[in-house]
Formats: sequence, C-alpha cells, structure tokens
Amino acid sequence: MKKKIVLYFPPTVTEQPFTYYLIKDYDLMVNILKADINPRKEGRTVVEISGDKDDFEAGINFLQSRGVKVLPLEQEIVWIEERCTHCGACSVICPAGALVVERPEMTVKFYNEKCIVCEHCLTACPSRAMEARY
Ligand code: SF4
Ligand code: SF4
Repeated sequence: MKKKIVLYFPPTVTEQPFTYYLIKDYDLMVNILKADINPRKEGRTVVEISGDKDDFEAGINFLQSRGVKVLPLEQEIVWIEERCTHCGACSVICPAGALVVERPEMTVKFYNEKCIVCEHCLTACPSRAMEARY
C-alpha cells in the first residue's frame, strides 16, 4: 500500500530519527514531500509511505506510541482546466514540479501525483483555476 500522511511532532521528539526507524525497523519506504522541522519546536512533515499493509500499520502505531500525531492527507488540489489560461504563473511558484509548462505547445499541465498540497498555486492563479478540495 501507498499513502500520503501528515505527521505532527511535539517539541520533545523533533530530534528523533523517525524516518530511519520506519525504514530500518518496519521495512517501509518513506518519501518526504514537505518538512517543517526545527529543533525543540513543534514540527510537521508530509510524507508518502509505502510498504506492506501490516508493516505500515505497525510503523504508524510506533509513531503514535512516541507521541507523533498522524493524520491522513485528505486535502487535494484540483486543476480546473477550462478556467486555465495557461499564463504559467503557477508553474513558477510550484515547489514540487506539479505544474509544468509543456514545450513546444507552451501549455500548462498538472501532475497531481507530484503535488505536496502547499497551496501556493491557489493564490498565484489569477483565474481561480486551482482549488483545494477536502
Ligand atoms: S499545491 Fe499547487 S503549488 Fe503546491 S505543490 Fe501542489 S500544485 Fe504545486
Ligand atoms: S496560474 Fe492558473 S491560469 Fe495560469 S497557468 Fe496556472 S492554473 Fe492556469
């Protein structure tokens, strides 16, 4: 299974190598999509975890037992193509390469699977072609 989740770390555990434990002890693949972690402060990461279902559940139980709050990434960014004028403003600010100007057509394409739900494109788009859905 493969799932995107949000991890919230209390200040007391932000320095612990949780990614290492998930890989080494639970045989999971961890792809960090977004991280906002500072020593001794509350932290938040968005990760995509893949592996065997039992290993996944054991890994999540381990995180929760150490005080990490685990939430599903339920929010999704959608591209409303008919509103898009292909101005390219979103492709400049997208940190994940999810919005790309395709050449030679010079039209914008949205790669949903790369999106890390940072929401930058919501305010950057003059045509309201990017929306967050829950
Ligand atoms: S929310 Fe928008 S700017 Fe952020 S990664 Fe997704 S497509 Fe790119
Ligand atoms: S900023 Fe909006 S209108 Fe411009 S290319 Fe991106 S989605 Fe389309």
